[in-house]
Amino acid sequence: MDLKALIREIPDFPKPGISFKDITTLLSNPEGLNYTINTLAEKCGDLAPDLIVGMESRGFIFGAPLAYKMRVGFVPVRKPGKLPSAVHSIEYQLEYGTDRLEIHQDALHSGSRILIVDDLIATGGTAGATARLIQQTGCELVGCAFVIELKDLNGRQQLPKVPIITLVEY
Ligand code: IMP
Repeated sequence: MDLKALIREIPDFPKPGISFKDITTLLSNPEGLNYTINTLAEKCGDLAPDLIVGMESRGFIFGAPLAYKMRVGFVPVRKPGKLPSAVHSIEYQLEYGTDRLEIHQDALHSGSRILIVDDLIATGGTAGATARLIQQTGCELVGCAFVIELKDLNGRQQLPKVPIITLVEY
């Protein structure tokens, strides 16, 4: 299936010069959504994760149905102050300033096999921080899966040496 044909490109969003990859057009297409989750599940099957970790907010949209399909649990990584119980947190660099990601302390157990899922990898800042957060908890990161990869930004370099699964490249 031609997933690229289902992803809408919005020029100059959120700021001039950026061509935003809008996945809402993929999500609203029944065959497109079904194919996306099924293909991610096929490609990630050999990684045999115990849990999928998805980042706020588009990582939830793909990570939760993938976890359901793979019959594993789903754990959200959230922006600061959203999770109600005790958290592990990690700070990471943005273009200007820093941001923070949080995960529930009791959601991960040392030795668990974790697969990171997000809609898109650009600079790799978000996924790289999530990978460090997971590794700090003593879990084993077994792979990272993205629907979209923006190749020119070399986001893979921010990730540890684990299998990286992507469906669409720009
Ligand atoms: P990174 O941290 O630079 O790799 O950016 C990836 C994060 O930003 C992901 O969580 C994406 O959801 C979001 N993101 C960046 N660019 C786009 C885009 O063009 N479309 C959708 N999401 C994007």
